[in-house]
Amino acid sequence: MTAQIAIITGGSRGLGKNAALHLARKGIDSIITYHSHQSEAEKVVQEIKQLGANAVALQLDTANSKSFEHFYLQVKQTLSEGWQTEQFNFLVNNAGIGLGASFAETTEEQFDQLMNIHVKGVFFLTQKLLSLIADGGRILNISTGLTRFCSPGYAAYASMKGAVEVLTQYLAKELGERGISVNVLAPGAIETDFRGGAIRNNKELKDFLASQTALGRVGLPDDIGGVIASLLSGDNQWITAQRIEASGGMFL
Ligand code: NDP
Repeated sequence: MTAQIAIITGGSRGLGKNAALHLARKGIDSIITYHSHQSEAEKVVQEIKQLGANAVALQLDTANSKSFEHFYLQVKQTLSEGWQTEQFNFLVNNAGIGLGASFAETTEEQFDQLMNIHVKGVFFLTQKLLSLIADGGRILNISTGLTRFCSPGYAAYASMKGAVEVLTQYLAKELGERGISVNVLAPGAIETDFRGGAIRNNKELKDFLASQTALGRVGLPDDIGGVIASLLSGDNQWITAQRIEASGGMFL
């Protein structure tokens, strides 16, 4: 059987790592990317291999669109050497940072950093990889529950994710003729390293968020990795241009 391959940006930790492991359990291979945590990424590659799937880790800074041509060439070479193919099936635009500041205090530097990673990076990386995505493939962008509900301190971050939600619809429209479905997943609060582990390490915040969540707790990486894997691997091809929230029912 021909291998199915996902590229997951930010696969060294958190939600991207968890998604790669869930995909591996479904027999789907991954090219994961890391920004600075190479050894973490290599550990994920080993874990994927132990699950019986194949994986490679590549360095990528999604804030630097000038590096995307080099990344594209690396992906081409990796697909050819590792899988004897020219194409991959699934792109998960997951890499991201959490940067909290009130609207009044957000600096231009913070704004530009968020814009480069969360909007410009997603836009031009997807554009660069387009010819390598197989017809009938799927793209999943990662947004946030914060585009539906507001929490002070996230004006810039949530605005960038809102832009990705609109971009998702345009990609779905324009790539539909190739049979590529494009959706956006909006996780609620999940215990990862995100924002310095703020959700995981701050009991007061965690308890508050749990009290505002229908399912009565904050999310764990497995709550999201499983959804990502099932959206990519299941019989979901007819779902496109959708924002799917996986928040356990936050702030209903
Ligand atoms: P983590 O901080 O746990 O992991 C972030 C990942 O992104 C790492 O793999 C990191 O690589 C990579 N990364 C960071 N900056 C860059 C960059 N400039 N270029 C390339 N890769 C980069 O975060 P999460 O897993 O929690 O978050 C993943 C996505 O989910 C993000 O888009 C985030 O906005 C979104 N999200 C998270 C929520 C949460 O509560 N955790 C809620 C809603 C959305 P390295 O390890 O090398 O640093």
